[in-house]
This record gives sequence, C-alpha cells and structure tokens, in this order.
Amino acid sequence: MPHILVLEDDAQVRSALLRALAERGYGASSTGTGLAGLDAALRDRPDLVLLDLGLPDIDGHQVLRMIRAVSRVPVIVATARDDEAEIVRALDSGADDYLVKPFGAAQLDARIRAVLRRTAGDGDRPGPITVGGLVLDVGARTARLDGQPLELTPREFDLLRYLAERPGQVVGKRELLAEVWHQPYGGAEKTVDVHLSWLRRKLGETAQAPRYLHTVRSVGVRLEAP
Ligand code: CA
Repeated sequence: MPHILVLEDDAQVRSALLRALAERGYGASSTGTGLAGLDAALRDRPDLVLLDLGLPDIDGHQVLRMIRAVSRVPVIVATARDDEAEIVRALDSGADDYLVKPFGAAQLDARIRAVLRRTAGDGDRPGPITVGGLVLDVGARTARLDGQPLELTPREFDLLRYLAERPGQVVGKRELLAEVWHQPYGGAEKTVDVHLSWLRRKLGETAQAPRYLHTVRSVGVRLEAP
C-alpha cells in the first residue's frame, strides 16, 4: 500500500484529502506547514508527496527544491493558481506532475497511480540503453554521459529514456505529452520545452549547438549520437 504524504495548510482540504486517499486504499499522513512536511518527507520516506504550493511558512517551490536536493521521492504539486508560469516553475524544480485546485478524488487517484507507475523501478532489470556516450540503466533509473553520472529528476529520466529508445527518430511534443506526461488529450507543450532545455543543460549542450538533442522545428525532437 503506497504511503502518500500530504502537505496542505487548509485543515478542511487536508482532512478531505486524507479521507479520499484512505478510501482508495492509500496510506496517508499530513502536515500543515512546509517545515514539518520537509521533516516528514525525509523521516517517513513516503512513496509520494502531494505538495500544496501555498503554505504559510515556506513557499511551496522552496519546499520542493529542498526535497529535491536530498530525495527523488515523486512529488505532485497542488496549486490554486491556474497559472502556467507557476506550473512550469514547479515542474522545472522537479515536480513530477501537478493538479489545479479544486480537483476531484478520482483525478487525484489517477495522477498518483500514473506517477507511481512511471517512477517504479522495473523489476526485471532490462539491459542498458546506449546512444553514443549516453548510457541509461532502466532498472536502476540512472544515466551516465561519457562515464559521468547525470543528476536527473524522475521526469527527466523518463523523457530521456523515451527518446533514447527511439534514437534518430523525430518524436513530437504531443507524443511526449501523451507518453511521458500521460496527457493523451494534450497539455502545455511549453512543459516539454522546459524539460528539454533542462536535459540539454545536463547533457552540456545548447539548442544552438546540439550534440544529442536536436530540435526539429514545428515537428519535435530527435535524440541521436553526435
Ligand atoms: Ca494553501
């Protein structure tokens, strides 16, 4: 039974979330502040953190960055602000997904299942994927470039893996949203752009001087050995 840690300062919302999670078979605990939440995230090792961005003591983005500095626990941010910049910023800081309030229990459950499915270690330990100097260990969910480990968020790893499994093939942003973000009905393509730019930075290249990641204007992106 996956354990979900809820960081939410509104007591009513918090108890509704805990009830909804329990009804769907999750273990759940909660805190009302960012500091207590950080503490619980590190101490209790939850399987997933549901993080409200509007917390009274520390800004949710800062909480996210602090969690990411020490842990790869999947994080779904919940925001009342239906603001693309806010959402992109959270995804940028390492959130695995987001929910805009108010959201229903069914959507919450679906997002949690999708994130857990995506971030679960593969049991059968398939062999590594190699593209040039890039090596992805799918079982361990680690990646190396020219022997150097890459520090990737779960989503960045999934994105890189999806592209590395299709070397030389142009992959569209809608396909990436559907397959990597599990948004089959489309979503913010800017999200894909942001993650690609982060991947580029980690691979030590730029859109202007690509080595592995090649943008194909108005079509998508292609990963290939330099
Ligand atoms: Ca709040």
